[in-house]
Amino acid sequence: MPHLIQIALRRGNRRGQIAIFLLLLLTVLAFVFLWHVDIHRIVTGKTRSRNAGDAAALAGARWQGIGLNLVGELNLLHAMALSANDAVAVNAITNMQARVLFTAPLMGLAAAQVAAKNNGMYAEAAYARLILQHAAEVRHYGDIIGGVPLFVQPFDRAWEEYATLLEAIASDGIAAGPDNTFLYGDSTGGHILLDRNFYTAVACKWWCWFFLYHSGLLQAYTDYHWWPPLPPPDPRIFFNSEYLPLWLRPDTVQLRAILSTASLLDEAARDGVNMTGFIETNVMFRNETWYVYNSWWGPWSLMDTNTFPLAGTLKPEYDYAGADVMMRVQASINRMTPGLDNSSGSNSILWTAAAKPFGALGAGTATPLVPAAYGLVLPCFSAVRLIPIDACSGSGNGSFDIGWRQHVNVHLPIYLASGVTTPGCWYCQQLVTWEIPAFRQEGIAWLSTNSYRCTLPSPGGGGGGHGGGSPHGH
Ligand SMILES: [Zn+2]
Repeated sequence: MPHLIQIALRRGNRRGQIAIFLLLLLTVLAFVFLWHVDIHRIVTGKTRSRNAGDAAALAGARWQGIGLNLVGELNLLHAMALSANDAVAVNAITNMQARVLFTAPLMGLAAAQVAAKNNGMYAEAAYARLILQHAAEVRHYGDIIGGVPLFVQPFDRAWEEYATLLEAIASDGIAAGPDNTFLYGDSTGGHILLDRNFYTAVACKWWCWFFLYHSGLLQAYTDYHWWPPLPPPDPRIFFNSEYLPLWLRPDTVQLRAILSTASLLDEAARDGVNMTGFIETNVMFRNETWYVYNSWWGPWSLMDTNTFPLAGTLKPEYDYAGADVMMRVQASINRMTPGLDNSSGSNSILWTAAAKPFGALGAGTATPLVPAAYGLVLPCFSAVRLIPIDACSGSGNGSFDIGWRQHVNVHLPIYLASGVTTPGCWYCQQLVTWEIPAFRQEGIAWLSTNSYRCTLPSPGGGGGGHGGGSPHGH
């Protein structure tokens, strides 16, 4: 009898064990299932944001190309109006060019939103807020300070029209943030605190960064008083849109100082305009306002080679910087696996893409030239291509990295004045670390024996050494 009871008990026990085992198995399976759903969501989210970001950048760059071609066509029209001695037309043409420098980029901004949304992105309320806030600032661009306007208008009522367009675009919802925006009021010039790599270097103990780019900083730094003030805005002349700029400028010059009659005739003919008989008269010899490329349109090698290590050879006719666009899109994913809550930033997928309009003067001939070969803008842009984000102008601006903008605009002035950092900000957190003398001492000690490991980034290789590698990427 006791024996039987024992067997029964054992049986019940085993049944219980099986039940517990099944329960565990079910739990594990449920986790695996939910985790799979999450993985699937992440993968599709990544593909979706990648497509949307690329499409948005290409759409923006296409409008930059259209704008450049329009300005070029108007230069040709200008020459024709001149030879017909039509001063009214000349004025109208120059005025229209000034407007194209704003409207084409903003069309690109609007087209990028459509492209991002068509590829499954939702509007980001924070992005739209940023643009609306800025539109409100633009309305004060004409304010008279000390007898002069804050920013001189490139054409009549320019700031009003510009602000209105921005508001219209933002109120339709912003899904793609133009990350390489150049606001007129932004600080320009080098300041370590405006370099995002500095914060990465502190966070990752990327000592090689200090060794390579700011050697002596670790030794020289004392406390927040040590920093020079933030540089003032660049007193640029305000011809270009702050978003997706074309980087052109009006130049009052005799045309013959820029290009020969033959090359103007050639380029016009290639564009289907026969100017023979038009320009021989007085076109080349008069001081006129022509739209030309500004200095941003130099060869790519002029870019900071630290951030853009150019690999391989580039066809000479494609070797130019200038107008380009970088777009940032963000997709959020709702995770299902318990424990991975949705409040953390890890549920947001970020993608930045850069694109650029391309074209060449004399495309298809034996000796094609870069668009800016003569300086004068001529219609020659025929394609758009994605480019590496490090090759994009202002790739470090992070204009639509909301946390970064907040840090630069709000926290940095406070920190520089009083040493006080703002809680909850990742960049400020790095400043707190940076202020600890023992932290900097650790870097000095590491570099004293390891600096030979620090090498400048080369194509295909990282920064080398402890915490090396490029912090750039998606
Ligand atoms: Zn901050």
